Amino acid sequence: MEHHNSLMKNYGAPAFNAVRGDGVYLYDDNGNKYLDFGSGIAVTSVGHSHPKWVAAIQQQAATLTHCSNLYGIPGQQKLADRLVAQSGPGRVLFCNSGAESNEALIKLARLHGKNVTGEESKRYKVVAAKNAFHGRTFGGMAATPQEKIQGGFRPMLDGFTFGELNNIESFDKLIDDSTAAVFIESIQGEGGVFPAEANFLLELRALCTERGALLMLDEVQCGIGRSGHFFAFQKSGVKPDAIGMAKGLGAGFPIGAIWVSEPYAELFQPGSHGTTFGGSPLASAAANAVLDIIEEEQLIESVVANSPAWHQSLQALAEKYPEQIAGMRGAGYMVGLVMKPEGHNLKIAAAARDKGLLIVPAGHNVIRLLPALIATPEQLAESVTILDTLFAAHS
Ligand code: PLP
Repeated sequence: MEHHNSLMKNYGAPAFNAVRGDGVYLYDDNGNKYLDFGSGIAVTSVGHSHPKWVAAIQQQAATLTHCSNLYGIPGQQKLADRLVAQSGPGRVLFCNSGAESNEALIKLARLHGKNVTGEESKRYKVVAAKNAFHGRTFGGMAATPQEKIQGGFRPMLDGFTFGELNNIESFDKLIDDSTAAVFIESIQGEGGVFPAEANFLLELRALCTERGALLMLDEVQCGIGRSGHFFAFQKSGVKPDAIGMAKGLGAGFPIGAIWVSEPYAELFQPGSHGTTFGGSPLASAAANAVLDIIEEEQLIESVVANSPAWHQSLQALAEKYPEQIAGMRGAGYMVGLVMKPEGHNLKIAAAARDKGLLIVPAGHNVIRLLPALIATPEQLAESVTILDTLFAAHS
């Protein structure tokens, strides 16, 4: 399809118009049905239009949609309690997207630096990771050291340096007394599905503690059950100082959040940060419904139960088509298959779409499979069957 006349061309021209979703399936305006393993880029955690989620939104919309944060919002308070229960002692601040979560985290880092030095410009730097993706705002872009993200928008926000993910020495060299925070994705998503290793996270924690820097983890893509843990970092046992989340939390209703541990949560005081929409009654109702569904349907348990067989069959595909698949990475329902030769990820993603399977290309020549947490073993197996047909056709 062409770009629509009245829309800016910042996205590629779409392949089809999406008009309806139901569970793990998406439908276009020609009535074609797709097995949606992109989930709107890791968003529709409980699938499309889950009846409980729809009912919660409808009921809340008819009761109170928005009131601003000038007033207390019981649903927001309940949601914050639930996120604290998942994360540890601390407090939560709501916003509307992943980039906004990260913006708030970067502001937290600056407040921390000011708090410990008494000055604004002494300890304000952030050490992030090469190949990261943290969003398109000025803070997010500055933490995303990629020409395709930063190009055209310089000068960037000052004070960001970059270590190699899983190379503790490279972070060791960068963290000093000007560092306010270390900020990384627990599993790099857009960069090509690179998980941070448990040891690396634990060593990073120790370095941050020793040098007085906050450890802030971006769980925007890998969080809310996708990895088989509520947060992907929980596998390692590491205790971060702050967490950013969005995407799967609202499952399609925009909401973002940061959790910050005590005592750093006290750094935000009346007037220091805010948002008109963040954590609105409607957004909170959607996210509470998502957490209800995840609990009631035991979706994290089912990601844990269903992933090994699915991973094994994807691994078998890699062995069957070594000339097209160079490897597999990820956790739970966040899997990257590394394609070869260069550019094959785009070809396979387009061919998959034509065969009724939606997947998402990522950096380093990867195709990403990001099914909703409700995906059944049969639906997971169907994704493998479709990919098998495609790789066979490209052999
Ligand atoms: N952080 C990570 C790890 C992401 O994957 C994304 C989006 O893909 C973002 C931040 C930005 O989120 P949003 O697009 O909601 O602003």
